[in-house]
Amino acid sequence: MSSYMKKILRINLSNNKIKDEIPDDKLLRAYIGGCGLASKLIIDEIQGNTNPLGKENKLLFMTGPLVGTTAPSNGRYVVCSKSPLTNIWGEAHSGGRFGPELKFAGIDGLIFEGKANNPVYLKIEDESIEIKDAYHIWGQDTYKTEKALKSELGDKKFKVACIGQAGENMLKISSVMNDMGRAAGRCGLGAVMGSKKLKAIAVKGSKKPEIADEKFNELALEFRKNISERGGILRKYGTPLAIRNLSKYGDIPIKNWQLGDWEGLEKINEIANLSILRKPIACYGCPVGCGRDIEIKEGVYKVEGAGPEYETLAAFGSSCLNANLESIVKCNDICNRYGLDTISAGSTVAFAIECFEKGLISKEELGFELTWGNHEAIVKLTELMANNEGFGKILNDGTKIASKKIKGSENFAVHVKGMEIPMHDPRAFYSMGLEYATANRGASHLEGTPFKVALGSLMPELGINEIVDRFETSGKGRITALTQNVNAVSNSTIMCVFVRDYISASDFTKLLNYATGFDYTVSELLKIGDRIYNVKRVFNILCGITEKDDNLPPRSLEPTKEGGNAGKVPDMKSMLKEYYEFRGWKNGVPTKERLKELDLEYLIPKVYI
Ligand code: SF4
Repeated sequence: MSSYMKKILRINLSNNKIKDEIPDDKLLRAYIGGCGLASKLIIDEIQGNTNPLGKENKLLFMTGPLVGTTAPSNGRYVVCSKSPLTNIWGEAHSGGRFGPELKFAGIDGLIFEGKANNPVYLKIEDESIEIKDAYHIWGQDTYKTEKALKSELGDKKFKVACIGQAGENMLKISSVMNDMGRAAGRCGLGAVMGSKKLKAIAVKGSKKPEIADEKFNELALEFRKNISERGGILRKYGTPLAIRNLSKYGDIPIKNWQLGDWEGLEKINEIANLSILRKPIACYGCPVGCGRDIEIKEGVYKVEGAGPEYETLAAFGSSCLNANLESIVKCNDICNRYGLDTISAGSTVAFAIECFEKGLISKEELGFELTWGNHEAIVKLTELMANNEGFGKILNDGTKIASKKIKGSENFAVHVKGMEIPMHDPRAFYSMGLEYATANRGASHLEGTPFKVALGSLMPELGINEIVDRFETSGKGRITALTQNVNAVSNSTIMCVFVRDYISASDFTKLLNYATGFDYTVSELLKIGDRIYNVKRVFNILCGITEKDDNLPPRSLEPTKEGGNAGKVPDMKSMLKEYYEFRGWKNGVPTKERLKELDLEYLIPKVYI
C-alpha cells in the first residue's frame, strides 16, 4: 500500500486514444512525483528543439504522493511542458482542489500528447474517461467555463482546470486556471493547452489515497495543528502581508524596478486588503488559508471572488506606481477570467508605461495616455492584452517579445530567459538574483527560496544553520542550490512551500515514508532534489541554454537611490562561480562525474554527444 494511485493517464488528442500506465516503484522512488516525475518523463519524451506550440510537445498535469492525503497543505498540482514563453523547461504550480480530485479519481498524473482538431475537454469520473466536445465553451472565460461544465455534468463536485481566451489565443503569458481563481500561472502553459485545443479537464473521484503506515495520520494531524497555530497571521492577512514585511528591505518592485521605496505601499498593503476581505480561502487540506475571497461593492471596479495575492499587488500596484487597490483587484479579476499570469501581465504593463514615458509608445498607438499610476489606463491596457486587441497584441506575449517589437525598450524588459522576474528584488536579497539566474523555468520565486535564509529560516539538518546577510556574496551559491534542491523535493511531493518551512527535514522525511512505504533518509531526499534539478538543467541545455543565459536583466543590476536596497547590486559573477562549483557544473553544464553521482548516467550521451 502507498499513497500513489499507480496510474498515469496518457491521452493522445490527435487520435483520441487513452492509455493507462503504471509507474514502477523504482521510478517513483527516484523522482517522487510532481515536477520530479515530470522532469524524467519530459527529458525522455520531448526533444530540445520541439516547438512548444506544436503537436509534438506534451503537457503534463502531475500530483504527488502527499496530494489528497491528510498531510497539511497538499491541495496542489503542477503543470509541466516545454514553455512557449521561454522555449525551455516550463513548470507552473497551483493550489485549490483540482490536484487532490485527480488522486480521488485514481490518477497520479496526466500526459497530453498530440493535438485535437476541434476544441475538446477531458471528463474523468473515476474509471470513466471521455474526450468530449468543447465547442460550446470555447471562447468562454475560465469562470464561465467552470460553471458551465459543472452544470452540464450535473454535479458541482467536479473540479475543473481550464484555460480562458488567453490560452485559446496561445498568448505566451497565459495560465491554466482552476477552482475559480487559482492559477498555474507561470511559463505560458495555458498556451500549450490552447495549442492542443484542450479547453478543460473536469474530474471527480470517489477514492482516497491509501497510506503505507497508519502512523502517517497521527503525524499529519500533529503538523496540521502546529501549522494552524503558526499560520494564523497568514490566514488573517494573506500574502499581502509581504508588502509590509518585505518592503522595508527594498524587496518590492516599484516603478518597473526603478525605485527602492514608495509612499503608495500603504494603500495596497495587508490592512488595505482587509477592507475588501469577505473570508480567507484555503486549498484542500490546508490549515492556513492564505487565499482571499473579496468583494468590492461600490465604484467602477466592482468585483467579487478571488482577491489578489502579494505578487499581483506588486505587479499591477507598486511596479506601475498604482495605489488604487480596486483597480489592482480588477486587473487580477481580468487575468483570472481570461487566464493570464498576473506576474507577467502586470510586469508587462509596467514595462509599457515606461515605454510610454520614454516616448517609445505614443498615445496614438495606444488610444489613451499610459502614465504611471493611471489606474484607468492600467485596467484598459490589461483588458486589451487579455482580449488580444489593439496595442494589447504587441504586449501580450510578455516583455521579452514586446521589447523586440518596441525599438529601444530592451532595458526596460525585466526578465530572465524570457520570463518576467517575480516580485522580489535581487538587489534586496542577493541570493534571489542567483535564484532567478539559475532557476530552470527562468526567473522563478518557487524553485528556490534562498532569501528566507537571510530572514532567519534555517534548515540545520541540511547544512543551512546560520543566517547569511542578505548583501553577502559568499555562501550564496551553496544556499541557493540547497534551497533549490529542497524545493524540488517539496514540489514533487507536492506540499505548499509556504508551510513546508514549518516542518523539519527529518519530520518531512518521516511523513513521506509513512505515505509511500519507502525508506528515504534526509540525505537521499536531498540527493533526489539535486537529481531533479539537474534533469531539468539538462533539458534546458538541450533547448540551447548556456551559462551566458544565467544572468539578470540590466535593470536588476542598476542600483536604486532610496529604500532598503539603495546603492546595492549583486555580484553575479562571484555567486555564479560558487554556485557552479557547488553544483558540480563546468561552464554551466553538469560534469559527467556529477551526472553519475546523481544516477543520471543515461543523460551523459544527451549532454556529451
Ligand atoms: S498556504 Fe495558501 S497557497 Fe499554500 S496550501 Fe495553504 S491556502 Fe494554499
